[in-house]
Amino acid sequence: MSGFSLITDQDIIKGFCTDSSNYPGHAEALIRPKSTAEVSEILKEANSKKIPVTAIGNRSSLTGSAAAEGGWILDTSQMTKIIEINQGEKFALAEPGMMLSDFKKTILDEGLFYAPDPTSEKECFFGGSIATNASGSRTFKYGSTKKYVRALEVVLASGEILNIRRLNIEKNTFGYLPFQNMVDIFVGSEGTLGIITKAEVELLVKPENFFGGMAFFKTLSECLDFVVNVRKNLINQTPTITPRAVELFDHLGLDIIRPDSPFKIPANAKAAIFFEQEYTSDSNNGCEALLNNWLSFLESNKALVDDTIIAEQAKQQEELRRLRHKVPSSLFEEGGKYTKEGGGKISTDWSVPINRIHEIIDFAKKLKEEARIEDPVIYGHIGNGHPHYNFISKNAEQKKQILEVVHKTCKRVITLGGTIAAEHGIGKIKKDFMKYQYPESIIKSMKSLKQSLDPNNILAPGNIF
Ligand SMILES: Cc1cc2nc3c(=O)[nH]c(=O)nc-3n(C[C@H](O)[C@H](O)[C@H](O)COP(=O)(O)OP(=O)(O)OC[C@H]3O[C@@H](n4cnc5c(N)ncnc54)[C@H](O)[C@@H]3O)c2cc1C
Repeated sequence: MSGFSLITDQDIIKGFCTDSSNYPGHAEALIRPKSTAEVSEILKEANSKKIPVTAIGNRSSLTGSAAAEGGWILDTSQMTKIIEINQGEKFALAEPGMMLSDFKKTILDEGLFYAPDPTSEKECFFGGSIATNASGSRTFKYGSTKKYVRALEVVLASGEILNIRRLNIEKNTFGYLPFQNMVDIFVGSEGTLGIITKAEVELLVKPENFFGGMAFFKTLSECLDFVVNVRKNLINQTPTITPRAVELFDHLGLDIIRPDSPFKIPANAKAAIFFEQEYTSDSNNGCEALLNNWLSFLESNKALVDDTIIAEQAKQQEELRRLRHKVPSSLFEEGGKYTKEGGGKISTDWSVPINRIHEIIDFAKKLKEEARIEDPVIYGHIGNGHPHYNFISKNAEQKKQILEVVHKTCKRVITLGGTIAAEHGIGKIKKDFMKYQYPESIIKSMKSLKQSLDPNNILAPGNIF
């Protein structure tokens, strides 16, 4: 007889069946393991009985990936220990179930810095962010979660506990490139290949200081020119500004934040950039020098420079990040009003190389006008060529029309060298888009990896394939 207990009360289970995509999941039981050994025991039993097991973090997924399609929900929220913070070698080893923002705060209090910062960091778990290879505004400078994952403890579908470590070597020709670092196979695997029970992540020295800010533009096009020029400036030998975050608000995004913004948002602004800039006490890279550089860069890029907001105090900086978060969270609420009618929020997650950003935005605008659908809110990680388009469909018919536009946009994204899924993963609701990225033969080879690690398809069935 197994040593773990199943919660089978549907009144409790119901509360764990969906995620931030509102995808309707269902399950027969909920399990809350406290240790790796328990996870292993659960999977051994589930595998022998071919019972599906979907791991969940804090269910902030926007793709239905955390919404179980039957079987057991494995809730990681009881595994919250930070096992080690190593100052000398700059790494932390932790269990998956801690809120990412709490994990980051603990690290910061130790004088170190964990870079990944999804906008949802206060609503997603450390483990969930690894299982989705989350990224955020500071990805502009620091890259996505994958870069920081040094080692993982993963429980496979069979119950086997695997300990894998990124090889710290410069040269490697062992077989196919994606297999040269096994860690990369599990990061972003959306619960389909194994359950992450511990992760060792790289920490950085805490940046000395930074200021945040918001710069306004009279048109979206001028705002995009600015972003392209920021990137061009960065490839100079001596860039004048070196932001760590470059995030977009279009005019509708500005309308969302205007009512409770403590900062003045100019009436003639049709787009804005939220940015963060680190600085040191050294005079060339000091606050004043960089502020001056920012203001002249903005001026030469047609920003409404006199209206620029600069946030030097922690409270103001936090306020800017809150405003940035307010856009997706209000749209989530708005979309939720129409799910009963078959509508809801439709969020794109494509990205393109930055030099193609004008092209794709013009293309998407033309498609939208031809289809006569309502304007989406366009916001997010523009510095990475990754703006989110959030459409609100009020019923099933509108949803269908919008999805047609999104499909056409995604096809074009691929021709421009982009991806259809930059940070939210595939989950259950982006599967139809995969065919644009790769031919069936390549998708099949991903599937065969899944089949060899999880032959009974018990782990997060319905995700990706
Ligand atoms: C308002 C809002 C803003 C967002 N902004 C961003 C953003 O800026 N960047 C970004 O990348 N994402 C963003 N997201 C999406 C989401 O927050 C991320 O994908 C997040 O990393 C998911 O973490 P979670 O703990 O909520 O995982 P869940 O949603 O619970 O799970 C996500 C997937 O990971 C799997 N999983 C979870 N834990 C484990 C584990 N221990 N082992 C194996 N598999 C596991 C699940 O099976 C599922 O497939 C946003 C979401 C919202 C609601």
